[in-house]
Amino acid sequence: MRECRVVFEEWVIPETHPRRDSLLEREKLVEAVCEGIVVPQGLIAHGRGECFDYLLGEQTIPPALDAERAAAAMFHLAKHPVISVNGNTAALAAKEVVELADATGALIEVNLFYRTKERAEKIAELLREAGAREVLGVDDATVRIPGLDSMRGLVSPRGIYRADYVLLGIEDGDRTEALVRMGKTVAAIDLNPLSRTSLAATIPIPDHVRRALRNIKREYERMDREEAKHVIEGFDAKRVIAATLRYISSRLEQLAAQMLGEQPKR
Ligand code: ATP
Repeated sequence: MRECRVVFEEWVIPETHPRRDSLLEREKLVEAVCEGIVVPQGLIAHGRGECFDYLLGEQTIPPALDAERAAAAMFHLAKHPVISVNGNTAALAAKEVVELADATGALIEVNLFYRTKERAEKIAELLREAGAREVLGVDDATVRIPGLDSMRGLVSPRGIYRADYVLLGIEDGDRTEALVRMGKTVAAIDLNPLSRTSLAATIPIPDHVRRALRNIKREYERMDREEAKHVIEGFDAKRVIAATLRYISSRLEQLAAQMLGEQPKR
């Protein structure tokens, strides 16, 4: 049995540290590994996300906001919306998940790539502590997403299996593709615009999971059903990906020009 302890307590990170928020987020995830909520592989996924967030300037960029508006619109239009939650999402944004579910009436389901009953229970408990009234996907993960083998394909018949719209975050490509193949609208929060998840999703959202969930809730509350229809009609997933790549590319170009004291290229 390996000893698991948090080596970098919160008080060690000075208030003035320029990357305090990011370091605290890492601490939160390390703690969640110790508690059995996040798997060690989740830390690697987080590191990949951090890298892309750096490239985006750690902010919601305009194409991400377009996607968040589309994700919000779908909550107005879907009959059975479900928010799918894994370990990383629960550790970083349990409160935001619950607030979005409360605002939209969506169901919350625990859905894990590395699934064990014990881990699913712990994540459900964390969500309940954050205020969730009901969490699916623990005892009731009894049906399988076609095309996904072993435990990772199991979902609740009342939740993801039946859903016409699934919002998920920090997910792997296989499962996103499988849900899209089932005919569901899938909005996927993923900082990497080139991941298979982002490329497969109906609505790719290149933003940090916490910023994205907050923005989706705000946009949901700002629009009505009529506006939601317009938003979805005008939405184009490929444009979101392309605009994100262009944003990163021109931001890097500008930073390089600044460094060399050059006029940025138009
Ligand atoms: P795929 O199978 O889709 O190509 P992958 O192999 O990168 O993706 P994972 O290792 O499961 O899949 O990674 C999950 C994704 O989540 C990564 O692309 C990462 O950029 C993204 N990610 C990590 N942390 C966050 C976060 N806090 N907010 C949003 N996205 C995140």
